[in-house]
Amino acid sequence: MSLKNCACCGELFVTRPQVPNHAFCSKHACQRERRQQWQRKKLQDDLHYRENLQDAQRAWRTRNPDYSRNYRAANPQYTQKNREQQRIRCCHEREQNVAKIDMSTASFVLHGIPAGVYRIRHVQDSVHCKTDAWIIEITPVCATCPCKIDACKDST
Ligand SMILES: [Zn+2]
Repeated sequence: MSLKNCACCGELFVTRPQVPNHAFCSKHACQRERRQQWQRKKLQDDLHYRENLQDAQRAWRTRNPDYSRNYRAANPQYTQKNREQQRIRCCHEREQNVAKIDMSTASFVLHGIPAGVYRIRHVQDSVHCKTDAWIIEITPVCATCPCKIDACKDST
């Protein structure tokens, strides 16, 4: 019999010789922490345990289809947060589609590019030649037209 500090609450407790590596006292919260730590480690180390747990969770959700619906109804902030994350993801996708041009309908979707006069040139792209997308170069007309450059200089 010896005294030890609990790995959870830090208080002294009496270890029992029949418990190997006795690290947690008998308080409810400390025992729960011990079980959670054990499960985290088990999930990390044991593939079969992880798969079994996922199967069990999936089966449980199948048996209790109302649970997720009820949970969302009882926790509107959870649904709200999900929607916001979804919106952020949408924004990212939109940004990636900047300057995507559908040449077949000649409709231009140029988000985030200031209004102005641009020269569009079709660029042969050897890297992406397998795609049917047009790779284009957009150049402000101002940069290539000498008279316009002079005008820019005058205005600055
Ligand atoms: Zn404790």
